[in-house]
Amino acid sequence: MSLDPTIPGFRAAIGGSRLTAPTDVSSDAFDLVVVGAGIVGLATARELLERRPGMRVAVVDREPTVGAHQTGHNSGVIHAGIYYAPGSLKARLCVDGARRLYDYCAEHRIAHERCGKVIVAVEPSELGRLDELERRGRANGVSGLRRLGPSELAEIEPHCRGVAALHSPETGIADFPAVARRLARDVEARGGRLLLGVDVTGMHRRAGETRLATRAGDGLAARHAIFCAGLWADRMARAAGADPDPRIVPFRGQYLRLRPDARRLVRSLIYPVPDPELPFLGVHLTKHVSGDVLLGPSALLVGARDAYRITHVRGEDLRDTLTWPGTLRLMRRWWRTGLGEMRLQVSRRAFVRACARYVPELRAEHVEDGFAGVRAQAVGRDGSLVDDFVFSLAGGALHVRNAPSPAATSALAIGEVIAERAIDELGLAGSSG
Ligand SMILES: Cc1cc2nc3c(=O)[nH]c(=O)nc-3n(C[C@H](O)[C@H](O)[C@H](O)COP(=O)(O)OP(=O)(O)OC[C@H]3O[C@@H](n4cnc5c(N)ncnc54)[C@H](O)[C@@H]3O)c2cc1C
Repeated sequence: MSLDPTIPGFRAAIGGSRLTAPTDVSSDAFDLVVVGAGIVGLATARELLERRPGMRVAVVDREPTVGAHQTGHNSGVIHAGIYYAPGSLKARLCVDGARRLYDYCAEHRIAHERCGKVIVAVEPSELGRLDELERRGRANGVSGLRRLGPSELAEIEPHCRGVAALHSPETGIADFPAVARRLARDVEARGGRLLLGVDVTGMHRRAGETRLATRAGDGLAARHAIFCAGLWADRMARAAGADPDPRIVPFRGQYLRLRPDARRLVRSLIYPVPDPELPFLGVHLTKHVSGDVLLGPSALLVGARDAYRITHVRGEDLRDTLTWPGTLRLMRRWWRTGLGEMRLQVSRRAFVRACARYVPELRAEHVEDGFAGVRAQAVGRDGSLVDDFVFSLAGGALHVRNAPSPAATSALAIGEVIAERAIDELGLAGSSG
């Protein structure tokens, strides 16, 4: 597994959570196993332990640390809820999740900042889409939104240029790996167990019990299971007999970062007006809680679900991507966008040029290498990019099939929704029930 240790905050995650040796557990040991110690799985386990105190819960992850994949490799932005279709689950959970996350970070002294962001229209042709974002943001209940002209934009971001912008003071940044570590401590404090370094390879259900096969040992048994497996979510669901649609296709996001003496070019968060057809927000310039300023991410389809290095390819992952009918349909429709993303990958100048649309002073000599993250993009059989949360019930377990951005922002609210579904659909009653 090639995890990139250069990510801001990632070093701190190493060794940050207690490693519990992969043990074989007798069949009546757990009421619930949550597979995936990313921010979503941890928030879910914590929420269920709140609602069902005394329930015997284990959170399992194949990695030696919590938050090792998407949770630890992202832009670190607390989204306010501007982009999402009014009435969608994504919109509701983002607005609710951001509010809870700010409170949680404040309560536990986790690094965060309500630094605000600007979404910048560089050309008049983008103004219609900026209007639509403003409409959506207001409909979603995002507070403080304000339309800016060029001079007002310059007051907030002196090095940024545009014909107009939307300012969102509620958008901010947080140390998501630290949030995951704190959630893991909450789980343990409520009697849950963290089983790290345990790779779940399959499951079957018999006589009211879910048996999880693991790479080492005899596996785990529980009355119920919830899978929050991120980049591997579809594989676990298919193994349990769920509909193969949608499939996870990995998209690698490369970041650059500003050299320390160029950080003055960006005060907080500068975003483009995104293409409404795509779930990606476009390369942006984002201040990070570590003090870094990140540029990116790009979004390139890659050959491994853990392709933190671009050359990293896994046969199984590539086969899963290439044999899925949706992949070809996706590529046919978006080949031009794909070429643009490849250009960003091979040419630092092209990457910097994309960001210099917003900050014209930016030059290649202002940047250095950053890190990469891999996004779990759910792709439908018809080639659609699935944009909202997807859950399915299969083999007596609940599967979170798609938890796209802004799921790090929304995690505490998503945890509540999953907990409610688990109680209703799995009949989770706790050890005494
Ligand atoms: C480049 C990038 C930028 C992003 N920017 C933002 C942002 O600024 N703000 C925001 O809110 N969101 C952002 N996101 C989205 C956000 O990071 C994710 O939506 C969120 O972290 C998903 O959390 P998760 O717990 O579902 O998945 P993950 O964090 O990926 O966790 C899943 C876990 O499951 C484990 N697992 C999987 N299969 C198995 C198995 N078989 N056995 C044992 N363990 C298993 C994995 O090891 C992993 O730890 C971004 C994502 C990316 C990739």
